[in-house]
Formats: sequence, structure tokens, C-alpha cells
Amino acid sequence: MAPTPTFVIVGAGLAGAKAAEALRDQGFDGRIVLLGDEPHRPYERPPLSKDYLAGKSEREQVFVHPEGWYGENDVDLRSGQAVAAIDRDVHQVVLADGSRLGYDRLLLATGSSPRRLSVPGADADGVHYLRRIEDSDQIKDTLATSSRIAVIGGGWIGLEVAAAAREAGLQVTLIETAELPLLGVLGRQAAQVFADLHLAHDVDLRLQTQIAAIDARQGKVTGVRLADGAVIDADAVIAGIGISPNTGLAADAGLKVDNGIVVDAALRTSDPDICAAGDVANAAHPILGRNIRVEHWANALNQPAVAATTMLGGEAVYDLLPYFYTDQYDLGMEYTGHVEPGGYDRVVFRGDVAGREFIAFWCSGGRVLAGMNVNVWDVTDQIKALIHSNATIDERQLADPGHPLDRLIG
Ligand SMILES: Cc1cc2nc3c(=O)[nH]c(=O)nc-3n(C[C@H](O)[C@H](O)[C@H](O)COP(=O)(O)OP(=O)(O)OC[C@H]3O[C@@H](n4cnc5c(N)ncnc54)[C@H](O)[C@@H]3O)c2cc1C
Repeated sequence: MAPTPTFVIVGAGLAGAKAAEALRDQGFDGRIVLLGDEPHRPYERPPLSKDYLAGKSEREQVFVHPEGWYGENDVDLRSGQAVAAIDRDVHQVVLADGSRLGYDRLLLATGSSPRRLSVPGADADGVHYLRRIEDSDQIKDTLATSSRIAVIGGGWIGLEVAAAAREAGLQVTLIETAELPLLGVLGRQAAQVFADLHLAHDVDLRLQTQIAAIDARQGKVTGVRLADGAVIDADAVIAGIGISPNTGLAADAGLKVDNGIVVDAALRTSDPDICAAGDVANAAHPILGRNIRVEHWANALNQPAVAATTMLGGEAVYDLLPYFYTDQYDLGMEYTGHVEPGGYDRVVFRGDVAGREFIAFWCSGGRVLAGMNVNVWDVTDQIKALIHSNATIDERQLADPGHPLDRLIG
């Protein structure tokens, strides 16, 4: 490395900002350049479908750091600067304007982008996706000026937008191809909780429903045409049909890419001078025993400290269990751990499922693999301990709220 090394971070989202912070926290006194293609300093996305969208929090609250932080910490934040290529042979990134910037170590924190609808009419005015702050602003305006919207996709973003729209007093139709929203992530019993929640708030849920086209008049959305020919009238459409990791730079540079940028548990790519973190990283996970790409806030928050250690030549592995949360209406939820469809044999419920105040545990052979607490708080550490213990847990005790969680492990 050069006497005063330069560490370049591509992607000024949560992971990029936290990586700059971690490098300074870990004593790096070389040059840090943080390059982001958005015109803002790094901000957090979860409020964009919750408080910020609902107009309950101000723009200033979404930023990762106060404005002065970058200067105070000698982080050269360059907003509005897209990186077009990585020239690994000479250790340089090529910016969109053709200029070049050398790096000793590089971190790719390029995040992900919403999948787009591919049906006829999908480019009509009034079709929205939600990833950036401008998207949230536009949807907020839409909620203020519309009376009915269609949400396409019953994943986390679709459900959160549906909740915000209902709370703003709009009629909401939510269209989902599966039998239940979140079916793939949560399985039937827990997914039903979210379906019931939205039905209780008068969302018109259209399940097992395919869309055929977006109908428009004079280029402006008027509705969604379903595969069976029915039309759902709507002033606007918000599509939340999943995201794709932004792997283009890495793939073009010849790094190993497979559902994200493939990294080891130290978050190193197939090039030892390049790391990746956040939504874009498909990382080897020592506890899960497989690679996993996590599209959630806590992963983008916590992986960068490990990436920073690796970039500085130290040893660290990222072994935190996946964790995420959602807020919809008066339901708050946290989920810890990871299961695949078919990767568990039972879901054990503890508490009042109908009253939406419970914990669900995904178990295999009596061992807890994941836990979801709904309107029950301060149990994440206990759920983590159950998963880490790998112990066989008595199912009746697990289901019994009278039996303390921290006394389940023998
Ligand atoms: C609306 C919304 C709500 C969410 N709510 C929750 C929630 O409730 N709970 C939860 O756990 N997670 C939630 N998430 C997910 C969470 O926000 C993401 O996991 C997190 O933002 C990932 O951070 P990141 O830094 O890896 O990527 P990003 O936040 O995507 O940041 C990557 C940045 O890199 C930039 N970039 C990409 N390519 C280039 C390039 N070539 N040159 C320069 N810059 C580039 C991108 O434009 C972007 O600014 C939500 C996401 C959204 C969109």
C-alpha cells in the first residue's frame, strides 16, 4: 500500500457511510473517498415507506450522519458521482465523466434497485417504485392527491405503502400473485397474520392474481388490468415486486457474481483488494453454513465494520444473524434468524396471535432457527440465544408465555 493509502467506497448509502465511519473508528488515517450517484449525503431508506412517507418525520431525520460529519472526519464525500468501471489492473475506478481515481483498497456498497414491471403500459405516468427519497416524495404527493391506488406486490414495501395509504384515507387494492402476502418469507401461518391485518384495515387484497397491463389515458394511469380481464381502477400504481443487487460494476470487472457480489465471511470479493457489503453482498455466513444476501437495514449497518477490518489487513468475520423489522398500522415486528421455505418443520406460536401480540418460532427437529416478535419487545437477545444454542427446546414451554424465554435452554 502507498504510504498514505487511499480507500475508495463506491455507493454512498447506509453501508458506504458506515464503512467510512468504521475505517476512522478503527484508526485508519489515510484518504477515504466515498462516491455516490445520488445527489444527497447518505440516508436511511426504512423511513421512506413509514414515518417520512406518512409526513410524520422530517427529511433531516433520514440522514446517516449530520452534514458536517464528513468534513470533520476527513471523508471526501462526492455526491452525484457515478462510478462507471473498475480498472483492477491499475487499481483505479473510472467515474462517469471519464476521470480516474486510484485506490489501495476498494469497497463496493452499491446496494440494489427495484425490479420494474414488464407489462404493457408500465411506463405510464403514475407508476411508482420506492427506493430513493425522491420516490418517497412523489408517492407522498400521490397519496395527498389521489383517492384510490393499486399496490402491486405483497412484500414488505408493498404492505408498508398500503398501510400508509390506508392511514391517509385512500382506497387501496393490493395485488399479489401468491396465495398470501409474504408467503415465501414467512410461511402460511405467519403470513396469514399480515393478510388479516390488512383485511382488518379494509385493504382490498387480490391474491393469486396476475396483472396483464397498466391501463392509461393520455399517458396517465387509470387502472390495472388483471389477467382475467377485470380492471381495478386506480389513480396511481405503486409496484414493490422485489429488488436486484447492483452488481454491474463488479461483473464487468470480472469479480465473482452470483445473486450479488460473492464474498467470503471477511467480506472479501474474489479480488483480495476489493470488499463488498450491504444489499449487494452475497456473503459466506459461518453460522448458517452457506452464502446469504440480506436485503435489510441491520446488515447494511453492521457488515461495514467487518469490511473495514478486512480492508485494514485485520481479521474479522461477519456472523451476525439476519435481523429485520417492519411497522404497519399499529403492528411492529422484528424478525431474527433465517429460514428457507421447506427448511423448517414447525412454527410454534407463543402469545395472542389473533390479538397480534405474540412471538413465532421457526423450528426444525426441536431447534429454533428464527423468531419473529410481533408487538412484543425486548426479546431479540433471547431469540438470538435460542438460535445460537442449537439446543432442542421443549415445544410446550416454547409456546407458553408463562415460561421465561431465557430459562428454555437446559
Ligand atoms: C422504502 C424502503 C424501506 C425499507 N424498510 C426496511 C425496514 O423496515 N427494515 C429493514 O430491515 N430494511 C428495510 N429496507 C432495506 C434497507 O433500507 C436496505 O437493506 C439498505 O438500504 C441497504 O443499504 P446499502 O447501503 O447496502 O444499499 P443502498 O441503500 O441501496 O445504497 C447504495 C447506494 O449506492 C449507489 N450506487 C449504486 N451504484 C453506484 C455507482 N456505480 N456509483 C455510485 N453510486 C452507486 C446507489 O444509488 C445508492 O445510493 C427498506 C428499503 C427501502 C427502499
